[in-house]
Amino acid sequence: GGRDDAVHGRLLADDTRHVLHPWADLSTLGKQDPLVITGAEGVEVVDSRGRRYLDAIGGMWCVTVGYGREEIVEAMAAQARAMPYFTPFGDVANEPAIELAAQLAALAPGDLNRVHFTTGGSTAVESAVRVAHLYHAALGRPGRRHVLSRTDAYHGSTYLAASLSGKQADRVRFRYEDTWVHHLESPGHDADDTSVSAAERLAGLMAGMEAAIDRIGAENIACFVAEPVLASGGVLVPPPGYHQATRELCGRHDILYISDEVVTGFGRLGHFFASQDRFGIVPDMITTAKGLTSGYQPLGAVLISDRIAGTLAETADPDKPVFSNGFTYSGHPVACAAALANIELMRREDICGHVRDVGPYFMDRLRELRSSPIVAAVRGDHLMACVECRVPGESGPTPRNMALAHRVDTYCEAGGLLVRPYENLCIMSPPLVVGAAEIDRIAGVMADALARAE
Ligand code: PLP
Repeated sequence: GGRDDAVHGRLLADDTRHVLHPWADLSTLGKQDPLVITGAEGVEVVDSRGRRYLDAIGGMWCVTVGYGREEIVEAMAAQARAMPYFTPFGDVANEPAIELAAQLAALAPGDLNRVHFTTGGSTAVESAVRVAHLYHAALGRPGRRHVLSRTDAYHGSTYLAASLSGKQADRVRFRYEDTWVHHLESPGHDADDTSVSAAERLAGLMAGMEAAIDRIGAENIACFVAEPVLASGGVLVPPPGYHQATRELCGRHDILYISDEVVTGFGRLGHFFASQDRFGIVPDMITTAKGLTSGYQPLGAVLISDRIAGTLAETADPDKPVFSNGFTYSGHPVACAAALANIELMRREDICGHVRDVGPYFMDRLRELRSSPIVAAVRGDHLMACVECRVPGESGPTPRNMALAHRVDTYCEAGGLLVRPYENLCIMSPPLVVGAAEIDRIAGVMADALARAE
């Protein structure tokens, strides 16, 4: 049920007066009219007016096992009761963080057996880059400071993570680090361009990457940071072979490969980690967050190879041995308890197997929307997807195309479906427990919204 009108009105007034939302539209600051979500169950959320929506955003790519999972809530409550918090710094540990590290090491590919917990995705990416810098410095090559990323990447919102991000729309006001962060060409935008074969696209991307390494000098490059499928930059799926080719190129030049699986990890592509099981590569580090706890608690982690961790240990400076990186809430016990319950639940219900079953159906149903004259493209893989809108004859994130996508989003919301608008895209990442009937509902509401927006 919804809040009564007086309560709802007071909530809105206080929001307007006091809150600066993450990623807020500053032109509406002081006039904002937020959707206030007050309840949630299964794959649905309820707002303060009592309206129900199918949540095709999955919270924010993160609510994977759905809302109202008692097992996770109980595990959190039990841990909070037993021991809510104690410092994780130095030689101090908590039980759920130890257990979770062991589970993550078992799930991770290759020799990624060392876990450094953080508070979320941005801090995981920042920490991974610091490990890369430390690793090269330990081997006597402090000059290896430069970092390769890609246009359209999103790696978070702290200053370094935002510097690594390559979404052009976000780069207008701030001055990000650009002396040692380099953005390679974005893979996947041209996937619908049938005039260029996937092999040609791959060759172009790899030639660009090799040229960048030559220009910067491999001896100056610490690492390459890459989402297996670029998520919020527009759900961009690289051409076949891209992951192996970039992995091989990095390995040849001793450039550490950091796979940012904040979105693709924990089942969204049908596996706990997509790097190896979906794309056939073993990175040097993996960053994860979001689905790690199904969004029930904030938590992130960097999974580090034994090779890197071993090097750090062997080369530690006896006078300055400290790994000076970590956060008050790194590996928070309540968050780790949520993650452990989440992993157990994912295993018991074979959530990854379910995603491999329904993922292709989800993409098929969405691809049918290409018959709409205002759909430029439908992209995605398993349960991450986007519908790109365009006024006929106009491509890209133009003002008219963005207004069109915004209209589609508004009609979806009116139809009881939440999708995430970004530029001229409607992005979808439903809870992984979504069934065929709910997928039909998503496709149906979306088709109606597109027809109304035409
Ligand atoms: N990396 C990727 C691929 C993401 O999509 C995100 C968030 O959307 C982040 C990192 C940042 O994570 P957080 O918002 O938890 O800091």
